[in-house]
Amino acid sequence: MKEVSVRTNSRIGMIDITSKIRNAVEELEIQNGVCTIYCPHTTAAITINENADPDVVSDILMKLNKLVPYQEGYSHMEGNADAHIKSTLVGCSEQVIVENGRLQLGTWQGIFFFEFDGPRNRRVWVSVR
Ligand code: ZN
Repeated sequence: MKEVSVRTNSRIGMIDITSKIRNAVEELEIQNGVCTIYCPHTTAAITINENADPDVVSDILMKLNKLVPYQEGYSHMEGNADAHIKSTLVGCSEQVIVENGRLQLGTWQGIFFFEFDGPRNRRVWVSVR
């Protein structure tokens, strides 16, 4: 397994970590298998989506914020219930096929780290099996 560090700069954000994951896969030196990209945090998430047009990222963040507002009479004392809910909606991991040492992503696909309660120093775990 490899651990990748992600520094987030705002409360909510969607950070393209594709190149970091590619580097981790190279370092693991496993030619064929399935790469799991796992986020060990309860207020962050992992997704795969378009990394060509940055408007896709801003549209996704805008819609998630409308679906799950920051403050809405939640019970959770820590004050970040929206972040926990967004994390569960998006999910904490993704899997990508690795063939001949390369991540098999579609032309327009990138791997993104979602921050929902930043800024923070975050970690992502990468494994190929
Ligand atoms: Zn909390």
